Amino acid sequence: MAYDFDLFVIGAGSGGVRAARFAAGFGAKVAVAESRYLGGTCVNVGCVPKKLLVYGAHVADELEQAAGFGWTLEEGHFDWGTLIANKNREIERLNGIYRNLLVNSGVTLLTGHARITGANEVEVEGQRYSAANILIATGGWPQVPDIPGKELAITSNEAFYLKDLPRRVLVVGGGYIAVEFAGIFQGLGADTTLLYRGDLFLRGFDGSVRTHLKEELEKRGMDLQFNADIQRIDKLDDGSLKATLKDGRELVADCVFYATGRRPMLDNLGLENTGVELDERGFIRVDEQYQTTAPSILAIGDVIGRVQLTPVALAEGMAVARRLFKPEQYRPVDYQNIPTAVFSQPPIGTVGLTEEQALQAGHKVQIFESRFRAMKLTLTDIQEKTLMKLVVDADTDKVLGCHMVGPDAGEIIQGLGIALKAGATKQQFDETIGVHPTAAEEFVTMRTVTR
Ligand code: FAD
Ligand code: NDP
Repeated sequence: MAYDFDLFVIGAGSGGVRAARFAAGFGAKVAVAESRYLGGTCVNVGCVPKKLLVYGAHVADELEQAAGFGWTLEEGHFDWGTLIANKNREIERLNGIYRNLLVNSGVTLLTGHARITGANEVEVEGQRYSAANILIATGGWPQVPDIPGKELAITSNEAFYLKDLPRRVLVVGGGYIAVEFAGIFQGLGADTTLLYRGDLFLRGFDGSVRTHLKEELEKRGMDLQFNADIQRIDKLDDGSLKATLKDGRELVADCVFYATGRRPMLDNLGLENTGVELDERGFIRVDEQYQTTAPSILAIGDVIGRVQLTPVALAEGMAVARRLFKPEQYRPVDYQNIPTAVFSQPPIGTVGLTEEQALQAGHKVQIFESRFRAMKLTLTDIQEKTLMKLVVDADTDKVLGCHMVGPDAGEIIQGLGIALKAGATKQQFDETIGVHPTAAEEFVTMRTVTR
């Protein structure tokens, strides 16, 4: 049977755009439907605008350090409206770039909500299209616990478009988004409290990293409340919000920001018309080649809930394009040693196993850990410490994990990701000449086993 398209992609986010462009480049006839914004979460309400706001917040650090380097500055004034307007302009520019990327690769771009109406059929704005393969790349959506007053809270989606910077913010959650946004609000001048339901935030990250970041955020005056959870939110007469905690305490703020994870975006997608099954967490179930339980339908990115990061969605999109239209170039995505950064203030960079994971996996480990005050701060009064840590297999000498909290951690960890992928040993780290004077050289000069 002749189909309208070889591949119909639902969602022009990180994964969908990558799959569509490369599939078209391999000669396939491709359509992409997008209901909201070109570039998806990352470009519009994720990585990119988040990083721009992080840069904005970081300026406060530079201003604080300036005096030590001899600069006398007039008292600074921050204008949220200017930062948001400039950010919006940049996002619009990127939306245009994504449109050009798709159109110039020969992809048919359809604007509107897509709903699957059959194993090989998708409906967009009342028009039906047939396709040999359908790729679901619909991403995720913030998930807020069902508590009284939850409609008074905001999520990252709204935070990017707030009219004013709130004076007092309660951030709920202990994952990437909570920690990053707490840093943004605090850095830009809001009184910020972070509430996390467990003992210590960033579950799954290395223990030293979690403790170190906690200490550094407290030094910066952030109010960290662990083992704390909101039971209800009420609006007060003056417009502020009262959060009543499960332990009975009451906190008042101008904004309650929830970052308690993201659910797969499956709204009105028409999965009931297909044989696509969900896994026990509600994400789309796929095999190792992103095939759903329906033979003509594939899924990638946040909607499969494997690793919710843009570079992973890109790699999955590329894998699908190759598998379908260039099988001789197909290579499975390597989910081992994915480097990642949390753009907190100071940021975290991490790749490979945490100390806890290495021990749990049965490795005999050697830990090399260093805490130091960065050279840049020596002319200032700022007492912030940088943490660097290597987890090494004592039997094979292989470096199993690299972890850092400190300026430029994300930039530094990218290179170490290559070293770990290449299977570098501690001896090879030691034999690598450092770049002096940098913080990064500490990763090749740690000689004493900490434990
Ligand atoms: P998305 O990028 O979410 O794209 C899905 C697209 O599908 C959307 O455009 C949506 O409108 C569209 N869509 C959904 N349903 C339909 C439908 N039925 N019809 C038509 N279109 C539809 N990752 C990093 O690696 N680094 C970071 O620094 C980072 N920061 C982040 C910060 C925040 C605040 C958030 C929320 C996420 C962040 N992420 C980051 C994660 C990253 O954004 C996601 O992992 C990535 O965007 C997933 O890509 P995707 O293609 O799966 O989905
Ligand atoms: P995460 O899954 O990272 O964290 C969710 C947090 O919310 C956890 O601390 C979790 O606690 C807590 N939580 C979950 N449910 C509840 C609840 N009902 N009540 C109270 N707390 C709750 O999700 P995020 O929303 O922070 O981010 C989503 C994903 O987006 C990230 O996992 C990451 O993959 C990606 N991302 C990547 C970024 C980057 O690369 N820099 C930046 C931002 C997002 P617990 O640990 O106890 O389960």
